[in-house]
Amino acid sequence: MTHHLPPVRGRYTYQADLKKITWFQVGGSAEVLFKPADEEDLAFFLQNTNIPIFTLGVGSNLLVRDGGIDGVVIRLGKGFNEYKASGYTIETGSAVLDRNIAEYAASLNIGGLEFLCSIPGTIGGAIKMNAGCYGTEIKDVLLWADIMTRDGKVQRRTNGDLEFSYRHSNIKNDEIVIKACFKGYHGSQENIRSKMEKMLEQRAITQPSKLTGGSTFANPDGDYKAWELIDAVGGRGKRLGGAEFSNLHCNFLINTENATAQDLEDLGEEVKEKVLEKFGIELKWEIHRIGHRIAKK
Ligand SMILES: Cc1cc2nc3c(=O)[nH]c(=O)nc-3n(C[C@H](O)[C@H](O)[C@H](O)COP(=O)(O)OP(=O)(O)OC[C@H]3O[C@@H](n4cnc5c(N)ncnc54)[C@H](O)[C@@H]3O)c2cc1C
Repeated sequence: MTHHLPPVRGRYTYQADLKKITWFQVGGSAEVLFKPADEEDLAFFLQNTNIPIFTLGVGSNLLVRDGGIDGVVIRLGKGFNEYKASGYTIETGSAVLDRNIAEYAASLNIGGLEFLCSIPGTIGGAIKMNAGCYGTEIKDVLLWADIMTRDGKVQRRTNGDLEFSYRHSNIKNDEIVIKACFKGYHGSQENIRSKMEKMLEQRAITQPSKLTGGSTFANPDGDYKAWELIDAVGGRGKRLGGAEFSNLHCNFLINTENATAQDLEDLGEEVKEKVLEKFGIELKWEIHRIGHRIAKK
């Protein structure tokens, strides 16, 4: 590490193994993992170094390559995980898991946030990705988000400012969501819980729930879903090393046993190529791939 790291109240871990804290459980290390103590500590860090940063949620939409990541990976935890309702709005720290907000909203008869129960990431990751399912996305329920820019300043951005589109916001890669506010409506406890149960049941029978990164490719514009294209080129169940396109949902890559990040990425690229050849459609990775590949011998 050639960069000077400022003295923070939070914790630095050098050569941090990211396998243990991402869903695919593959890939290399972060040169440094930084867990800021709180917002002030994060701002101090950003203001006192120009080292490249990457913000990690819980890595449920991430493929960390085998050669690891240069610079500092920031992971928010304590200090960013409080939430509180006022009427039908909920203000929350960005490190909170989506499902905890769904559960909290349900306990207060706040409807509209049920979909969050089945997305396995954090609020920060959900906002950056405009995460959604079962007909609702973040853009339908978010009032505002507080974003820390690379210079350590906080800007409150409204829903409109974030220019949400399908699985996308305009939040830059070096900007960090630290807080957000959602709006729900009055709902009945029974309805809310029943919606959540149905979503979770549906998930359990249609998608793998371990050692995966969620949808591999975004659905392209036009008539076809990504999974239909993958299926049509023989991708369902296809394997490479320890990587496999799931039989249950063929747009989900899974680490079946000891896959490397390269197995997963190469298998994705192989199927993407076949789809391009057969349909002339270029699938786009929804999973974020970060870090260095290890050169093939
Ligand atoms: C089994 C499974 C099912 C899934 N189902 C769905 C689904 O139905 N709908 C859906 O939309 N997604 C789904 N996903 C994908 C994933 O859960 C979402 O994209 C989620 O929002 C990612 O959150 P995360 O905290 O894990 O972010 P990560 O995977 O850690 O990061 C994803 C991106 O968000 C950025 N990021 C994370 N935190 C912050 C922050 N605080 N500030 C700024 N940027 C940040 C990262 O830099 C990265 O670019 C699924 C994943 C799995 C494994």
